[in-house]
Amino acid sequence: MPHAVSVLRTARLARSAKPFLARGGSKRERCAGCRLVPSHCICALRPSVPTRAGMCLLMADIEPLKPTNTGWLVADVVPDTFAFGWARTQTDPALLALLDDPQWQPLVVFPGEYAAPERVVHEVGAAAGKRPLFILLDATWNEARKMFRKSPCLARFPVLSLRPEQVSRYVLRRSRRDDHFCTSEVAALCLELAGETRASATLEAWLDVFTHHYVQARNQLPVLADNEACERLRALQAGAIRMHAGPVPKVSGISSDRATS
Ligand SMILES: [Zn+2]
Repeated sequence: MPHAVSVLRTARLARSAKPFLARGGSKRERCAGCRLVPSHCICALRPSVPTRAGMCLLMADIEPLKPTNTGWLVADVVPDTFAFGWARTQTDPALLALLDDPQWQPLVVFPGEYAAPERVVHEVGAAAGKRPLFILLDATWNEARKMFRKSPCLARFPVLSLRPEQVSRYVLRRSRRDDHFCTSEVAALCLELAGETRASATLEAWLDVFTHHYVQARNQLPVLADNEACERLRALQAGAIRMHAGPVPKVSGISSDRATS
């Protein structure tokens, strides 16, 4: 069954007056499951990890159409991923229903400096047995700021702000040059904060597998059989990599009175 981002992409394509051309204008045939050319398809490798946490992607209009959108990869790995197109003037009733579903504790993932201080949290707490639902704004930075400001339906929820030390630890571990994370990297950080270290590592490996295949396809090169990302993903799935214990979730992080402030 196609996942939430795939469904959103199909709906968005159906609304397009003219066919969307990815940068570079590639018209090569692409796999509907992974968006890569068939010779570099990664569908057979796709992992899925049961998670307690859910992901709610609010996607800027064009985002589901981009061949490199990484919200897609989040939906591949995390079974409870929901995706909605964002529009300033209307809110999808299904999004409102999800936000009201009592099994979830929604958390808007965004830099705390843009939110009222009383909304800002840094830990993923256990609010009365609820499952964390990470709301990720899948957009360019300018679009994301607008979405954050102009989404009244999110205003009652805590804002999960990543601490600089969490960010820099991640930058170091991933050998990144900067801290401009893509959506699947932010999702991996959230899973780590929720103590779901295996899911977090799997999502990181999956991004690396996708990136390797995407770059090889773009350069018209074959996939390297023993590439590191695929090896790591396989080892994670076989349980051959021992996960260090994740951060202990703090009960005091989020409480329901905080969520309504
Ligand atoms: Zn595929």
